[in-house]
Amino acid sequence: MKRIAVISGKGGTGKTIITGALATLAKGDLVFADCDVDAANLELLFEPEIETTEPYRGLQVADIDQDLCIQCGNCEEYCRFGAIRYTDDRFFVDPVKCEGCAVCTLVCPTNATSMKDRESGKIFYSRTDRGPLAHARLEPGSGTTGLLVSEVKKRVNERAGDRDLLIADGPPGIGCPLIATVTGMDAVLIVTEPSTSGLHDLKRVVKVARNFGVDIFVAINKYNLEESVAARIEEYCEDEGIPVVGRIPFDPTVIEAIRSRKPVTEYDCPAADALRAMWERIASALGRE
Ligand code: SF4
Ligand code: SF4
Repeated sequence: MKRIAVISGKGGTGKTIITGALATLAKGDLVFADCDVDAANLELLFEPEIETTEPYRGLQVADIDQDLCIQCGNCEEYCRFGAIRYTDDRFFVDPVKCEGCAVCTLVCPTNATSMKDRESGKIFYSRTDRGPLAHARLEPGSGTTGLLVSEVKKRVNERAGDRDLLIADGPPGIGCPLIATVTGMDAVLIVTEPSTSGLHDLKRVVKVARNFGVDIFVAINKYNLEESVAARIEEYCEDEGIPVVGRIPFDPTVIEAIRSRKPVTEYDCPAADALRAMWERIASALGRE
């Protein structure tokens, strides 16, 4: 199975729209992973029918047994995340701030502190008309996004069977979730936009992706809004030996497609034409149809 992730240096570049377009253009048996677990949007485009739901337990959280607490204050003093506070005559743990390091359990003289499991989100495996989709929802403030991305990918790998292409919608940025997404991929499609910050973010994400030995492709979304910056992006990619496979023009039909929750490739418009041409270049580079 070939695996490609659509990623970007920052949010708002049109990454999910492009992933949705690839889903309609790629032929064969497909499987999808929504690795943008902080803002899972593929389900909005695919309208999946959920087959299984599993609880996701990320990091543990500290808990204080008030009956055993002698209010020495050690836990508050040693918690470097400011997760323990003294209010209303007692010490308590703020679960949103707790990073699960367990230091408070080491410094408590009466074993009043302990670590407990907490449900930090849910992992879904769903059926869509384009193929199975693994996706997830993280509770706000739960952290451990990278770990959840790895769990989503694990579900896909366990259940993909002999499907021949995995398309993943990756997270924006260059943190743990991106690293968890890119690990084990054959290729990444980096979606950027023609702005100075877009070029800066592109350089950062290329630097990270280079560490994983994946094929790198670039798509410039709305390239005609700032053609001089788009030319600088092309120059940079040429210097780096990275193919610019997509030059997608600004096209109001894309907004209409988002409103109607349809892939833009269902419309006859310049953006859809550019996406078709882009997929042909990627498919050929991946040795597909
Ligand atoms: S587990 Fe770590 S972060 Fe959480 S309350 Fe204890 S010391 Fe603080
Ligand atoms: S270290 Fe233990 S005994 Fe001391 S305040 Fe914290 S929970 Fe209470």
